[in-house]
Amino acid sequence: MAGIWIMRIGHRPERDKRVTTHVALSSRALGAKGIFVDTEDPVLEENIRSVVDRFGGDYTIRTGVPWRQEIKDFPGKVVHLTMYGQRVDEALPKIPRDEDILIVVGAEKVPAEVYQRADFNISVGNQPHSEIAALAIFLDRFTEGKALYADRGGHLEVVPNERGKTVVEHDPE
Ligand code: SAM
Repeated sequence: MAGIWIMRIGHRPERDKRVTTHVALSSRALGAKGIFVDTEDPVLEENIRSVVDRFGGDYTIRTGVPWRQEIKDFPGKVVHLTMYGQRVDEALPKIPRDEDILIVVGAEKVPAEVYQRADFNISVGNQPHSEIAALAIFLDRFTEGKALYADRGGHLEVVPNERGKTVVEHDPE
């Protein structure tokens, strides 16, 4: 499968720090390659890089990214998650699997030009809810759950356990 990227727009560092952190962590866990955030936020970058350093993978984060330029020039399909979009179950088969996708998620009202530029405006249900929930459900369906237990080659590895916590520490190479 080609690369999955996230474009987070409308991020307000003070107000949205927890939600945007979870947008990044959830997308990483569910198979995305990285996130672009429109507003510069060095603390957010540091927090996400610290997770990647410990748990592995090559997830990248860039903040202060001009979103208009990014969605205009993205060399692949732009997917915008919005409750007004077409049904996720109907949209999924139309998205090419051999091209990168850039998934746009908002924080508050999303400008009309995002709807116009998007190759796919997709809803995850027609009720307002959360960018974290919408992204997680979309990614799990798009990847058919394949990312959930993928080996990230991290220093820390959590081993699924019926009871208790099993964490294996691997030596750095
Ligand atoms: N009026 C906004 C809208 O256009 O959906 C609601 C903003 S909501 C707090 C923040 C983000 O959550 C939205 O930009 C969208 O990406 C996502 N979202 C919320 N509900 C959704 C749904 N039912 N389907 C897809 N995405 C949703």
